[in-house]
Amino acid sequence: MSPELFQEKLELMCKWFKKSMDEDQAQILYERIRFIPDEAFREIVDQMIETMKYFPLINDFKMAWRDWISQNPTKIIDPDQLIQEECSECGGTGMLDVWVHPPESVYKGEKLWYSIPFPCGFCNNWKRIFTTKKTFKRADIIKLCEKKGWEVSFEDPYRVKKEEKDFERIPIPEMANMAVKDLNQEVGEEGGYQL
Ligand SMILES: [Zn+2]
Repeated sequence: MSPELFQEKLELMCKWFKKSMDEDQAQILYERIRFIPDEAFREIVDQMIETMKYFPLINDFKMAWRDWISQNPTKIIDPDQLIQEECSECGGTGMLDVWVHPPESVYKGEKLWYSIPFPCGFCNNWKRIFTTKKTFKRADIIKLCEKKGWEVSFEDPYRVKKEEKDFERIPIPEMANMAVKDLNQEVGEEGGYQL
């Protein structure tokens, strides 16, 4: 996205979420999400303002981008590549949803889990969403997480909580924000993929 659009939308979000951000923080945020194209970024920010209570984390932008691509696949992918295969591993989405817990990510005694989408190595549907060439099977993911010392889950660890009681979004502190950043960097290096 262009720096101008980023600046314009950042000011809007800071006002709306009553958040102040210095230039260094804004620069870091821009570096991490600049791959999102203008059109998508506009829509993502509008939607965040309508639906979110807190200023989004870097990871929220990435997840929103992922959702945007799956809703608008023909806008970024050659339609010839859009033939969807059946896949029992990913349900045809092309992406394996994986939850990881790095041991240092704890908030008020509760483990924090981060969701990372991996390109499914059991089918070719990942081409619909990811720009990478590297794909993963579950065994690869487990091996990668073991190497990093992360706990891994293929089920949403928060789902149980959501069912038990009204799920409240944890106001994740800056520490967790940094953890997501490190995490994405590490997975990025290891897996060589970007969202
Ligand atoms: Zn698959």
